[in-house]
Amino acid sequence: MRLVIFGPQGAGKGTQGARLAEKYGIPFISTGEIFRWAIKGRTALGLKVLEYVDAGSLVPDDLTIQVVTERLSADDCREGFLLDGFPRNVEQAKALDTLLADSNSSLDAALVIEVPEEVSLRRLLGRRVCSNCGRNYHIDAPPENNWSCDNCGGEVIERSDDHEAETVTNRLRLYHQQTEPLKAYYEERNLLREIDGVGSPDEVFSRIVSSI
Ligand code: ADP
Ligand code: ZN
Repeated sequence: MRLVIFGPQGAGKGTQGARLAEKYGIPFISTGEIFRWAIKGRTALGLKVLEYVDAGSLVPDDLTIQVVTERLSADDCREGFLLDGFPRNVEQAKALDTLLADSNSSLDAALVIEVPEEVSLRRLLGRRVCSNCGRNYHIDAPPENNWSCDNCGGEVIERSDDHEAETVTNRLRLYHQQTEPLKAYYEERNLLREIDGVGSPDEVFSRIVSSI
């Protein structure tokens, strides 16, 4: 199964993506996560992307496409994958189509999770993440004990790019300008599945599974 998932920040892509990847036995690949790990590890890639990620602006397409091309060429992607955060604009969507066509494959579906802006803002500003394994939490759904991760015991913190209201607004604006046009792109190719993202994680998950 080859899937992409997109939607405004705070729509629940990370939560739903991890579950979907588990259900279908495919790797969950988040470009945002790849960039954050690279920054944390101070790798060459991390140094290149730091200023963009911190400002909430987009990493340049050529660099992003290169990172995704490399990741998708790994063995674990042969039977499929779920991409989160990529493509983020039509340019990247075209690059992905070309990349897949080169290995005689194609996408099975493009999932878009829709939520009203007030819902996504509320979720975003309350979002917390494990600094060690990347698991997501929320101030309304914290880990069992005292902000240490249920999964690995790591410290659960606020993502630096969620902290500044200005950065958050910038990312939402970019979503509407650059990423939302992907709906038309995938609609034309009969791949678009629109999912109502309002409701409990379980409700949203079963909507996604039935749409696939
Ligand atoms: P969010 O969806 O909440 O913005 P992500 O984890 O998807 O969070 O992305 C975090 C940051 O990583 C983005 O603000 C951007 O700087 C960078 N990024 C992630 N994916 C891409 C992409 N496909 N193209 C360009 N930049 C990206
Ligand atoms: Zn953890």
